[in-house]
Amino acid sequence: MFVVEDLILGEEKIEYVKLGKEKGFSALENEIILKDLCMSCGLCESICQEEVIKVEEQPLLIGECSNCGDCLIYCPRSFLPIDDGEVLGEYVMKIAARAKDERITKVSQDGGFVTALLCYALEKKIIDGAIVSMTTEEWRAKPFLATSIEEIINAAGSKYTPSPNLRLLKGAKERGLKSIALVGLPCHIQGVAKLQHYNNDLAKIIKFAVGLFCKSSFNTSLLREFVTKYNIDLNKVKKLDIKGKYFRVYKNGDVIKVPMKEIGKFARSSCKYCFDFSAKLADFSVGSVGSAEGYSTVIVRSEIANELLNGMMEEGVIETTEVEDELIIKLSETKIKEAKKRVKAKIKEELPLALKQFVR
Ligand code: SF4
Ligand code: SF4
Ligand code: SF4
Repeated sequence: MFVVEDLILGEEKIEYVKLGKEKGFSALENEIILKDLCMSCGLCESICQEEVIKVEEQPLLIGECSNCGDCLIYCPRSFLPIDDGEVLGEYVMKIAARAKDERITKVSQDGGFVTALLCYALEKKIIDGAIVSMTTEEWRAKPFLATSIEEIINAAGSKYTPSPNLRLLKGAKERGLKSIALVGLPCHIQGVAKLQHYNNDLAKIIKFAVGLFCKSSFNTSLLREFVTKYNIDLNKVKKLDIKGKYFRVYKNGDVIKVPMKEIGKFARSSCKYCFDFSAKLADFSVGSVGSAEGYSTVIVRSEIANELLNGMMEEGVIETTEVEDELIIKLSETKIKEAKKRVKAKIKEELPLALKQFVR
């Protein structure tokens, strides 16, 4: 893949648009979407000035493209301002935390830290809203802009299908929100890093970003297959989660345990090239790995995150204990190793036949 950074300095962006084989949305389509690299982060929808991109599972062109080239330039898969030096990225501290508020603990996954954090920041007027993922009636994920405590609590819990959260950024800015939290997977946070890298106005409304640990997300066909195979009535499902070697479906007191190897085939193709397990570019990284049952693992990476965590502790919003980082490091290393292997295979796959033999 080419490096967009080299192509957008001064007149070079114009040169790229003029000289490229494909222009505008076609370039995004050919370089990212058709190569199975799109992570459905939703950023290209927010970034398109002509408002002609719609991202559901994949970006679609729904109008006339002016060939500005921004969608490809901003796409986190075209170029990313990150080095993969430290396996867990930079951080201030790691801690295990759980919410104390019963309204949160009743509905949340693990320790409910993210929900407690968003509620705290909203109550203190540090943020005026939060972009999160909600679950639809069919248990698919969809982006949602929450502006009340009730909406934040309603959005609690893990989701496993793509949710193009960054597509709501533009709307949040247009609604006049000035300081929001962005909750997403490492790939969403990479989109935020691109906005920050180019000093885009959309980045200025993000007060802090929360990245959730992620091994992979799954195609929505996953749920369709389970519904049939395990005779699941989605109306009765209370929660989905991944624990150890099982994908679990909780319904009215019952738990259906599906071995992870059975769901591997539903992993999204674009996730194969993902090297970030712990959301290294976020302010907070949060997951369950590394903590005792009922706690969230929290990696605090920035000054604002540190201030927020201290405030929550001082006000007794959360209780905390120690975190064990061995497994987080192992999963992060495995993800980097796998991604490197697959990127290499991908490069080889796209070489002309005559050159493939030289790549080992
Ligand atoms: S107008 Fe620009 S951002 Fe929108 S689709 Fe075309 S090239 Fe992409
Ligand atoms: S910006 Fe995000 S949604 Fe758009 S093509 Fe890139 S990865 Fe996909
Ligand atoms: S594995 Fe990476 S690309 Fe896939 S959903 Fe998770 S963070 Fe996004």
